[in-house]
Amino acid sequence: MDFSLSEEHKMLQTTVRDFANEKLAPVADELDRKQEFARDNFKMMADMGLLGLGIPPEYGGSGGDELSVAIAVEELSRACAATADILDAHLCLCAAPIYRFGTEEQKQKFLPALVKGERIGAMAITESEAGSDVSNMQTTAARDGDDYILNGTKIFITNGDVCDVMLAFANVTELGERGMTAFLVEADSPGYSKGKKYDKLGMRAATNADQVLEDCRVPAANRLGDEGRGMRIFLELIDHGRIGIAAQALGITRAILERTVEYAKNRKQFGAPIASYQAISWRLADIYTELEAARLLTYQTAWLADNGQSFRTQAAMAKLYATELAMRASTLGIQVFGGYGYMMDSPMQRYFRDAKLTEIYEGTSEVQRMIISASLFR
Ligand SMILES: Cc1cc2nc3c(=O)[nH]c(=O)nc-3n(C[C@H](O)[C@H](O)[C@H](O)COP(=O)(O)OP(=O)(O)OC[C@H]3O[C@@H](n4cnc5c(N)ncnc54)[C@H](O)[C@@H]3O)c2cc1C
Repeated sequence: MDFSLSEEHKMLQTTVRDFANEKLAPVADELDRKQEFARDNFKMMADMGLLGLGIPPEYGGSGGDELSVAIAVEELSRACAATADILDAHLCLCAAPIYRFGTEEQKQKFLPALVKGERIGAMAITESEAGSDVSNMQTTAARDGDDYILNGTKIFITNGDVCDVMLAFANVTELGERGMTAFLVEADSPGYSKGKKYDKLGMRAATNADQVLEDCRVPAANRLGDEGRGMRIFLELIDHGRIGIAAQALGITRAILERTVEYAKNRKQFGAPIASYQAISWRLADIYTELEAARLLTYQTAWLADNGQSFRTQAAMAKLYATELAMRASTLGIQVFGGYGYMMDSPMQRYFRDAKLTEIYEGTSEVQRMIISASLFR
């Protein structure tokens, strides 16, 4: 058993850390306030090859594996989790599934532009009546010659206001309950429009909007995988995506811990730094211990994925544990910062708001517990 990172992984970690410290951290609060898609950060990630992690060079990608994605996402999230959120929706939920499930023609058509950041990707499954229960999706796809006609509305979609390529799920009508199918909907598809844009609590530099499909014509050549294979594609992409969300939570927790330790060393009350009181230092010791455990779980899950082993349960465990840790850490962070922690100019409030989302999207904590308990009682 070897727990050390390879030279390539270490180099990636250092490179992304330096980039995040230098370029992302200084603007993270401003981007959060503006609540606009962080286009400059997206472009810089494209220039660094981060949008092509895990995609082979023949499609313009930078190569690397699942662990590379996790390492990069943790480093980005430590500085600006919303930027990592953009990357996750673009790469893990859109480009990577095109690489894994697309035909050669689809890979050639979509991947180079996505990897270069010339097009922005998104993934859309959620609807008003289909959240945790995606099987209740109502969007339909009816075959019409060489095309499909899609009808339905997707909600909450990350990168939804700016995306050029949306991996969308719809039910092929003739197949009934087994009809869930994946489609690559392009921004100029007739009948496709962007809907309501959201004002949200955290991860605000990653933007969200509804996606409206009204008799939207999509060429059959843009169907990803066979008819009826949508649920399999979705479950597979979301397993990978959960490693990314666990890594986001690791980055947020690390940022909280670093800043809270610094604050506790400097803040004096009753004549001594508050770090000297075990009520503070022991709780931070617990967060540190759990952070190490969460990272091991996340890396182990990435390793399983990279080595072709089943990792659904581990991905659920990594997401559940890391994201609930990030939430606990952010609550403690505010407590350690005291009154200042509650103010909008304290660093803690953004972590607190960002951390909350990690417990919700790509399957809530309850959904992760359903997956884990199902494996326990199988
Ligand atoms: C900021 C943001 C970004 C998002 N980005 C995307 C995106 O890019 N693409 C996309 O398709 N979707 C996206 N989503 C949707 C997200 O994945 C869903 O919000 C999430 O899966 C939960 O679905 P829901 O909101 O309908 O909640 P519901 O499913 O209605 O759940 C409500 C509550 O009930 C609980 N619950 C539900 N069923 C059970 C059960 N059987 N047992 C116990 N508890 C249960 C849930 O855990 C939750 O606490 C995004 C959401 C947000 C908030």
